Amino acid sequence: MALIVQKYGGTSVGNLERIENVAEKVIGWRARGDHVVVVVSAMSGETDRLIGLAKGITPRPDPRELDVLLATGEQVTIALLCIALEKRGCPARSYTGGQVRILTDNAFNKARIQEIEASAMRAELDAGRVVVVAGFQGVDEDGNITTLGRGGSDTTAVALAAALKADECQIYTDVDGVYTTDPRVVPEARRLNRITFEEMLEMASLGSKVLQIRSVEFAGKHNVPLRVLSTFQEGPGTLITFEEAFEAETMEKELIAGIAFNRDEAKLTVLGVPDRPGIAFSILGPVSDANIEVDMIIQNIGRDSTTDFTFTVHRNDYERVLEILKQHAAQLGAREVSGDTKIAKLSLVGIGMRSHAGVASRMFQALAKEGINIRMISTSEIKISVVVDEKYLELGVRALHEAFELDKVA
Ligand code: ADP
Ligand code: ASP
Ligand code: MG
Repeated sequence: MALIVQKYGGTSVGNLERIENVAEKVIGWRARGDHVVVVVSAMSGETDRLIGLAKGITPRPDPRELDVLLATGEQVTIALLCIALEKRGCPARSYTGGQVRILTDNAFNKARIQEIEASAMRAELDAGRVVVVAGFQGVDEDGNITTLGRGGSDTTAVALAAALKADECQIYTDVDGVYTTDPRVVPEARRLNRITFEEMLEMASLGSKVLQIRSVEFAGKHNVPLRVLSTFQEGPGTLITFEEAFEAETMEKELIAGIAFNRDEAKLTVLGVPDRPGIAFSILGPVSDANIEVDMIIQNIGRDSTTDFTFTVHRNDYERVLEILKQHAAQLGAREVSGDTKIAKLSLVGIGMRSHAGVASRMFQALAKEGINIRMISTSEIKISVVVDEKYLELGVRALHEAFELDKVA
């Protein structure tokens, strides 16, 4: 008898018919003799709707109260799913994050899971019940409701799987696995049977929203077998694998696992700063003091003893960073501060890059062929990212997908 944790995303529980469909699926797994713990998201669009309500009152709602509000979305779906299960004669019980005691820190809106109390869930399973847990939420030490950041139900599922030592964590969604890139942008994208944990971590952190990055981190840390599958059609989905043998095999065959993209960043440039030691610190120090994360950084070779300094931040932080830089510009001796929010980052990810030269030039050639100007470049062992104008995002991703023949099995 296996213990499976299943997570159903917003589209999968988007209306009553779909919730009943999930109930049927869960019952199917139970009929095989498995223990099932189910994590559900809010109905699709609900979290956005709730955020909209709060923002209708003020652009910056109190973070604690926002979490109280957002957590209601998942509370609706756990109850409805249990009602659907019970109607079919399947014993089930719903739990909010706080009731399970998914203990988090107190960083409202982006809390991190610290501990999970598994004994109550085990007792329910032993009593023959399906346990249905609200995704995306927890409780802090003082009993405040917290939420885990957008897409956080993935992380709830993986964390529960780790706490219960489940045999597999299954993420059911509206696509039938992890693709070489978002199939909504490139219809030719191909489903991967397997992807290494390292590659999935990069894909998620570089913008592939199919899994929340923290869920992948958690799976890696606790060795949780993780699979992405479709709620709406049968199939093997994509297994996130830790096997080294597979990695070695992949390195031989597949150079690139996939392409991730992200339009959530903005670019800032400080022009004509004196080219002297400490300048990077003087520019980025105040940004980091404001608790703002910086992603890509480029400093040009100095000319006439001045240099230009460019970096990217999350688009939500753009206005604040611009303000900070303007405040410091005179003190820095900068000529000008400028910025651009209409940018996109495209990234190639693949462990095969470690052993192959020439990936970058092939990437740059493919973009050049489409007349796409590269504004920034950054590389690491298993990824290459470029920043381009946002209007070229789709064209760029398609061009790269074609250039690396990702639609074909290697
Ligand atoms: P859920 O509501 O089930 O959590 P999400 O919308 O969060 O679903 O994630 C699924 C979506 O992720 C897909 O509909 C797809 O558009 C998008 N996506 C982005 N990159 C990829 C990728 N590489 N493979 C599959 N889906 C991807
Ligand atoms: N409902 C939350 C969101 O929309 C969490 C999730 O679905 O994973 O982000
Ligand atoms: Mg999601």
